[in-house]
Amino acid sequence: MEVAIKNIRKEFGQFPALHDVSLSVQKGELIALLGPSGSGKTTLLRLIAGLEQPTEGQIFFGNEDASFKSVQERHVGFVFQHYALFKHMTVAENISFGLRVRPSGTRPSKAEIKTRVADLLAMVQLEGLDKRYPAQLSGGQRQRVALARAMAIEPSVLLLDEPFGALDAKVRKDLRRWLREFHDRTGHTTFFVTHDQEEALELADRVVVMSQGKVEQVGTADDVYDRPNSSFVFSFIGESS
Ligand code: ADP
Repeated sequence: MEVAIKNIRKEFGQFPALHDVSLSVQKGELIALLGPSGSGKTTLLRLIAGLEQPTEGQIFFGNEDASFKSVQERHVGFVFQHYALFKHMTVAENISFGLRVRPSGTRPSKAEIKTRVADLLAMVQLEGLDKRYPAQLSGGQRQRVALARAMAIEPSVLLLDEPFGALDAKVRKDLRRWLREFHDRTGHTTFFVTHDQEEALELADRVVVMSQGKVEQVGTADDVYDRPNSSFVFSFIGESS
């Protein structure tokens, strides 16, 4: 799904968390939203998701103005930093949750769900782990289950909010490479929030550099690396969000 963000302003009270943010994203692009803590990355992601509404401006999904549509209507898939897996459910139950809670009539049959779960586990390369509980998985495996769960609803757009932020450096590095490869196979339009510039530059088709609620620069890793728009771009190495 293409996404067009047009002149978005978002105020919390009088405070503008985003001002005049515009961005056009092609179908299948992997976009990193990069910037220091408080620069507005999560607010922008929540607006794309439909968890927040803009004070001004519009967000289009394809040709449709989705600015005031609900999360469900937008049909987005989410992965957060802290594993939001249901602890008391198996991997298979976690992945199929979004399918099982559909109203009857739109709910797939048990057999269809089983096939779907097996396909999704293969997609995230966790075949055979369907009966495990989250506590029996590594951190990296849990985030891949969370990704499979997000993919189960066949989302219009994938929204990843610091999905590797809680993992150690080695696992992060492996997962970054893995996610890039996953994205190339599945081709979903994806927004990836991070304050880690190495992660953004290595992973993304295009990097959106944010600062103080504004978009400072949009470009490929090479553009941003070779021609940073402002001294700020490389000033936040190591800052935690
Ligand atoms: P980032 O994700 O880049 O760390 P955020 O989007 O979380 O930045 O926050 C941007 C700014 O908006 C911050 O100053 C933050 O305090 C403020 N903000 C975010 N959400 C709210 C809220 N619900 N109410 C008030 N202020 C908020």
